[in-house]
Amino acid sequence: MNENQRKIAFVTGASRGIGAIIAKILARDGFDIWLNYRSNNQEAQKVKTEIEKIGRQCLLLKFDVADYKQTEEALSTLLETQTPYVVVNNAGFRRDTLLVWMKESEWKDVISVTLDGFFNITKNVLPFMLKNREGRIINITSAAAHFAIAGQSNYSAAKAGLVGATKSLAAEVAKRNILVNAVSPGFIETEMLEGLPINQIIKTIPLGKLGKSEDVAEIVSFLASNKAEYITGQVFHVNGGIGG
Ligand code: NAP
Repeated sequence: MNENQRKIAFVTGASRGIGAIIAKILARDGFDIWLNYRSNNQEAQKVKTEIEKIGRQCLLLKFDVADYKQTEEALSTLLETQTPYVVVNNAGFRRDTLLVWMKESEWKDVISVTLDGFFNITKNVLPFMLKNREGRIINITSAAAHFAIAGQSNYSAAKAGLVGATKSLAAEVAKRNILVNAVSPGFIETEMLEGLPINQIIKTIPLGKLGKSEDVAEIVSFLASNKAEYITGQVFHVNGGIGG
């Protein structure tokens, strides 16, 4: 039997983009999926249908990860009977502008979806993982956490904060066999890149092209697998060589 059969992987922000592909690849690996998203019912339903076609279950969980109350309400009853083996904190967005013009809401919303999102999801699931003495938490950060990108002080701060939280939590829960890692994508072809000067960006990428969601999802798949049982507190860069 597949090592992951009957295990659950919970992926946030998975109606579109990188999260949707992570959900499908983890389903391919044998996981049943809890699929969180915020607004796009139609796209979320499409991902669910594709996951069910390959014989795995998919539970749609529509809520805003930045809102503690909504997160708790969505998860508390479910967690009484089932615990995800894998949590992928992927939900996120950017609101780029120079700091001098940044509105307080643009600062707070970007920080909140990433850092409150990480806290709200992880805080709810972690007690059950601790009880089971197993689990994998995989946080999707960004190259912006490590390299200077003008106009992204909010996003860079949020993603760098998530790297710090990854390392700290990894040290807290290692003894209970819960592994916590981060994946740091560069420029990946999704709707998130809309409005950016792609031709100029490509010139700065040593591999000379944008990444695909699959490039990110396959690392997540590895970190969720038995092959990664001695890896925790690390950041994996998937960025075509930026800053290498
Ligand atoms: P995307 O295509 O814009 O998709 C974002 C997803 O997040 C959607 O499913 C959206 O749901 C969901 N979402 C947004 N806010 C949410 C919230 N408050 N609660 C729940 N779900 C929420 O973005 P992406 O490019 O796939 O990015 C995924 C992750 O990778 C993000 O954390 C991003 O920062 C990171 N990343 C992306 C890139 C890149 O180049 N694309 C690079 C580095 C890091 P709805 O559509 O249903 O609202």
